[in-house]
Amino acid sequence: MEGDGEGRSDDAPKSWRNGDVRTRLVAGFETLWVGRKRGACCGGIWGRFELDFAAMPRRKHTDDRATPAPSTSARLADMADGRRITPMLRQFLEIKEQAPDALLFFRMGDFYELFFEDAEIAAGLLDLTLTARDKSGEQPIPMAGVPHHAVRPYIVRLVEEGYKVAIADQVEDPRQAKGIVRRALTELITPGLILDPENLDARSSNFLAAVHGTAKAGFGLAWIDVSTGEYALTEPDDRASLLAELTRIGAREVLISEDFFDTELRVALEAGAAARWTTQPHRSFGLTGAKEVLEGLFSVRGLDGLGLGGATVGLQAAGAIIEYLRSSHIDALGHVRRPKYVQLNSFMTLDENARRNLEVFRTLSEGKRKGSLLGLMDRATTSMGSRRVRRWLGAPLLDPGAINARLDAVDVLVRSGALRSALEERLALVHDVERLNSKVTSGRANAKDLVALSRSLAQMPALDILLDREDARSLEVFSPLPDLSALAAEIEGCLVDEPPLALKEGGLIRQGYHAELDELVALSKEGKGALLRLEAEERKKTGISSLKVRYNRVFGYYIEVTKANLKHVPEHYIRKQTLANAERYYTPELKDFEAKILGAEERRGSLEFELFEELRVQVAGAAPELAQLADRLADIDAGLCFAGLAVDYSYVRPEVDDSEVLELVASRHPVIERMPLGERFVPNDVLLDREEHQLLIVSGPNMAGKSTVMRQVALCALMAQAGSFVPAERARVGVVDRIFTRVGASDNIARGQSTFMVEMAETASILSTATSRSLAVLDEIGRGTSTYDGVAIAWAVAEYFADVLGCRTMFATHYHELSELARTREQVRNVNIAVSEVGGKVIFLRRLREGGASRSYGIQVAKLAGLPEDVLARAREVLANLELDSEDSVGRPRLARSREAASEPTPGQLSLFSGREEVLRDEILDLELDKLTPLEALNILAELKEKAERC
Ligand code: ADP
Ligand code: MG
Repeated sequence: MEGDGEGRSDDAPKSWRNGDVRTRLVAGFETLWVGRKRGACCGGIWGRFELDFAAMPRRKHTDDRATPAPSTSARLADMADGRRITPMLRQFLEIKEQAPDALLFFRMGDFYELFFEDAEIAAGLLDLTLTARDKSGEQPIPMAGVPHHAVRPYIVRLVEEGYKVAIADQVEDPRQAKGIVRRALTELITPGLILDPENLDARSSNFLAAVHGTAKAGFGLAWIDVSTGEYALTEPDDRASLLAELTRIGAREVLISEDFFDTELRVALEAGAAARWTTQPHRSFGLTGAKEVLEGLFSVRGLDGLGLGGATVGLQAAGAIIEYLRSSHIDALGHVRRPKYVQLNSFMTLDENARRNLEVFRTLSEGKRKGSLLGLMDRATTSMGSRRVRRWLGAPLLDPGAINARLDAVDVLVRSGALRSALEERLALVHDVERLNSKVTSGRANAKDLVALSRSLAQMPALDILLDREDARSLEVFSPLPDLSALAAEIEGCLVDEPPLALKEGGLIRQGYHAELDELVALSKEGKGALLRLEAEERKKTGISSLKVRYNRVFGYYIEVTKANLKHVPEHYIRKQTLANAERYYTPELKDFEAKILGAEERRGSLEFELFEELRVQVAGAAPELAQLADRLADIDAGLCFAGLAVDYSYVRPEVDDSEVLELVASRHPVIERMPLGERFVPNDVLLDREEHQLLIVSGPNMAGKSTVMRQVALCALMAQAGSFVPAERARVGVVDRIFTRVGASDNIARGQSTFMVEMAETASILSTATSRSLAVLDEIGRGTSTYDGVAIAWAVAEYFADVLGCRTMFATHYHELSELARTREQVRNVNIAVSEVGGKVIFLRRLREGGASRSYGIQVAKLAGLPEDVLARAREVLANLELDSEDSVGRPRLARSREAASEPTPGQLSLFSGREEVLRDEILDLELDKLTPLEALNILAELKEKAERC
C-alpha cells in the first residue's frame, strides 16, 4: 500500500519499512504520516513546518534528492510570525538543516534534548517523558531528553528502528562561552555506522555496503565494518550475483548509486537483503574520486600495490563508502584494512532460502540463534572467533585446495587435546582486539581499553610458542603472529593496572613513567600532610581545639571555627563564609598553600591526559598490525571451535575433491542429534552422484524423517566446504557450487506468504539457476495445491532435474506415484524411510533404504494424531476404492506417459494424465440437458467443438 502512492509521486518522501503500515493523508500540499507503531500523529507541532518533508526524520530508505531542505532563512521567516526566535532555537534550526532526515540529539548541559517531532518520535519509541519548552508561549515546543552519559543505548535503539540519528555537541567550554555555547553537528549514526562495541552484537559483523553499476560497465559492490576495519570489494558479473552477494554479506545498510536504484533492487532489499538503504548522488561514485580517496587513505601512489589495479566499478563503490563515512563525521579510519578484492567464484552460493531452510543462522520457527547450525557450531572463545565462524558458515569455499588447508589445520587441532586446551586458555584472556583497535583509531578508547589491549597482547608470545609445531609448518593458521610485544610493554609501562574510566582526573599513569608527573603527585600528597600540620599549628596558636582546616570545591581551603569560639579568632583571619553555628576564614598563608596544591592537582590531571593521548596515538600507529593480528586470532579461534566440535561429537574429516560425488556413511543431522528427544538419532547412508544416484526420490510417511535426512545431507556439504569435520563415519564431498532448498508450502506457513505462489516462484528460480555442480534439496514440491495439480507439478519438476539439470538432487514427496520415474531412468533412485506397522500402528524406524514406499501411511499417522475411529474407517474405505484404479492395465508406468505415448489409447483406463478427450467426455456427461435453454445448448455445443478441435 505504502509503496504505491509513494513510488509514483516524485516529491513525496520515499520512506518505508517492511510490513510497516503507514497511512498517508494527503490534503493538497499538507501531508502527515501516521506511524503505526506509535498510533499517533508525528507532525502537527512544527506549526507550519510539518508540511516540510525534508524536516521529517525518515526511516529505512531515504532519497536525499527527493526534497531539498528549505533554507534556514526561509524557515526563520516562516517562523517569525508564529513564535519568538531565541538564539538557541536559531542554532537548533541551523544544525537541523544539516541533517534534516535525522533525529537530532542536541546537547544542553548534562542532557541531550530532542525537539519538535523528533521529540515525539523518540519519546514514543524510547519511553521518554514528553515535556515542552517555551511553555508560556502560544506554541510550546515539544521536548524530550536523555542524560548525556546514557545516550548511546538510546541512539542504538532508534537506529535499530530504522532511524538516522544526528548528534550536536557543545564545541566550546560552556564556562568560556560568550552568549550561547557554540554547538555543531559532530556525528551521524545509521545502522552501518555504529562504532561502539558495547552496542553491537560482538558475534556478528556490522557491514555498510555500497552498490553501483550498469549493464555496460559492470557491477560493483563494496562493504566495510567500521567497527573492525574489515573492508572488501567485488565486481559481480550480473545483477543477480550482485544481489546474491549482498544477501550473503548481510549488510546492515546499503548505499545505492541513484541511477542504479530500481524496482528490482527495491524488491530484493525489501525481501531482506539489507536492513536499511539510502540512495546517494551519482557523483559520489566517481572513479577518479574513488582512486584519490583510496590512495590517500592507504598512503599509496596508484592502486596496483593494493591489488586493485584492474578494478573499476568495485572501486567506485569502495570510494563511495569512504565518502559517506567522512560526510557522517567518521574520519578516524586508521584501522581500516586495505580492501580485499573478493573473487566471487570462490564461495558457495547460499541464497536466503537455503540459509533459512537449512537453519544456518536462525531457526525457522522462532528465528532464534539457538537451535541453528551457528548456535551449535559457534563455541568460539573470543568474539573475533564467533564472527569468523559465522562468516565461514555463511560463505563455504569452492576450491578443494583452500578447503583442505582449513581441514588440515582443524586436523592438527583435533589430534592434540593438550594443544587445544592450551590455546583456548590463552584465548580466554584475549579481548576483542579487532574492535578495540577501531576504538583506538577513532579516538574512543579509554585507559581501560588500552590496558585490555596490552593484556591481550601479553598472551601472544605464549600463543606463538604453542603455534610453532613440527606437524603444522606449512599451515597458515600456525604461522608466527605479528610481533607487538614492544607496544604491549609500552602500554603496560605507561598505565596503571586498574585505571579509572574518566580520563581527565588523573590516576591513569603509572608512577615512574614521567618525572614531572611524579613530582606533581608527590606535591599533592605532601599537601595532605602539610594541611594536617597547618591545622595542628593553628589550634596551638589560637587555643581553639575544635578548629578545622578543610576543603570544598566551591570555597577552596578554609579554617572553620564554631560560634562558641569566635572570641579566640585572631585578627589576621579573613572571613570567607558564615554558617548557622560556625564561621569560615582564610589566611594569606592558606591562600598560598591552596594555589600550590590546587595547581598541582589540576596540572596533574591535564598532564596525565596528555600522556594518555600520546600513548593512544602511538597505539593507533600500530593499527594495521593489530588488524592483522586480530585476523589471525579469529582464524585460530574458529579452527579451535571446529576441532572441539569434531572431538566432542565424533565428526569425521570429509574427503573433499572436485568429483561430483556426495557420499555419507552413517551421517547424522548435526543439530537434531543434539536435541533431547528421548529417541536416539538413527544415522543414515546417502550416496549422490551424477550417474546412478543423481536424483533420489525420498518417500515415507509424514514424520518419518524425510526432511531431516535431506537437510542433513545439505548441512554436511556446507560444513565440509566451510572447513569443518562432519557428523558421519565417513564422508566424501565433491565440491558443491550452490545449495538450493525448496520446502513445501505446508512447512512454510511461518513466513505468512501466499504459499503456493511463493513455492512456484522459488522453484522456477532454482530451475533457471542450478548448474550440474549444484545440490538441490526439494521437500514436498507441489503440496500447496490440489492433489492432481500437485502430482503433476512434482512429476514435471523431478523430470526436469533428471533430464535437463542433472545435478545431485534429493526430492522428498508423499506422492508415491513419483517412484515410477526410476523405472525409465538409470540415474533416478527410489529410497524410502522405513516404517513398520504393528497392529495398525506405525513405528518409525528412521532408516533410509532402497525402494519406493508403496503406501504413505497417512491414515496410520492420522490415527497417531488422534482422529476418531469412524473417520479413520471411512478413510480406509475410500483409499481402497482409489487404489483399485492405481494399476495400469498394460503395466506401463502410468505417470510417465507423455502426449506422444498417449496417442495409443489405453482401453478403459481413466488415469491422472489421460488426454483431453477424457476431460471433454466428462464435460459432456456433466451437462444437465433438461436445464438448458436452446440458445445455451447451442453455445455449449460451439464451445465443445472448439475444444475438440484443439485436442
Ligand atoms: P518428514 O519430513 O518425513 O515428515 P521430519 O524429517 O520432519 O519428517 O522428521 C520428523 C521428526 O522425526 C524430526 O523432528 C525428528 O525429531 C525425528 N527424526 C527424524 N529423523 C530422525 C532420525 N534419523 N533419528 C531419530 N529421529 C529422527
Ligand atoms: Mg517433511
